[in-house]
Amino acid sequence: MSDRDIATPTRTKAILERYGFSFKKSLGQNFLIEPNVLRKIVETAELSPDSGVIEIGPGIGALTEQSAKMARKVLAYEIDQRLLPILADTLSLYPHVEIRHGDVLKADVHADVREVFEADQDLAVVANLPYYVTTPIMMKLLEEKLPVRVMVMMMQKEVAERIAADPGSKNYGSLSIAVQYYAEAKLMFTVPKTVFVPQPNVDSAILRLTRRSEPPVDVLDEGFFFDVIQGAFTQRRKTLLNNLSVFFKDSLSKPEVQAALEALEIDPKRRAETVSMAEFARISDAFLARKRAGTEED
Ligand code: SAM
Repeated sequence: MSDRDIATPTRTKAILERYGFSFKKSLGQNFLIEPNVLRKIVETAELSPDSGVIEIGPGIGALTEQSAKMARKVLAYEIDQRLLPILADTLSLYPHVEIRHGDVLKADVHADVREVFEADQDLAVVANLPYYVTTPIMMKLLEEKLPVRVMVMMMQKEVAERIAADPGSKNYGSLSIAVQYYAEAKLMFTVPKTVFVPQPNVDSAILRLTRRSEPPVDVLDEGFFFDVIQGAFTQRRKTLLNNLSVFFKDSLSKPEVQAALEALEIDPKRRAETVSMAEFARISDAFLARKRAGTEED
């Protein structure tokens, strides 16, 4: 780390003042001003000199710069037009950084990846995500099955804890399963709110998602599987039987739902937070088979 790093508090302040930049809370703009934290984030991605990095929300380029030092190419999406001239200035020493202006949620990331990176290049997402859209951005990147090896992302600590949670913990829920279906999730370290300008109201954490080559469970229909899980967690304090009876109310009676769960040897009185992904796969496949059989009879 040198004194010239964008992320040092003095340099960040000088850049913001030079451009008269005012933060937009609505865009989740909390910039990191601790070079050691940035270094740890980039180290977590285990980049090689040949790696490519995708970043969402470069801000004034603090994290982008550290990735650029370690990787062959960096592609970064920034929604705030006011940051573009600043980034052109702060990252002028890194011609292998490409900034795309726009909302990452609307971007054709697959097409951009094909255009910017080489085929089969090792790819990592390394980002300090805007907190107001953490989950949509992360789910977009996962569901689109981008060819990335790992995603290292800073987010609200509570969200990272929910994503990485195991069955039986109070944090475990539909988000844990939705993410862990695509990737192995690990909360790597937490970051205090004091290392940001402006300071957010909550602490943050670095989550590492290592993409799986295959989902850990086989299901007949992914969409139905995720819908059943959502349904099972609708009211966390209620039993699986209660939540699923409401979810299937148009097609099955409560005793039918109970019988179906018992046939799977899953206690209907359990709560969803104790049910593993493998058990949800069995539940969803069994109810789907029933539904299909019912449709055929009609
Ligand atoms: N990477 C910088 C850092 O670590 O200091 C800034 C991170 S800041 C938490 C989030 C950044 O994401 C902001 O620069 C914000 O303008 C940008 N942003 C917010 N919503 C976005 C979106 N939908 N697409 C792309 N960038 C977005």
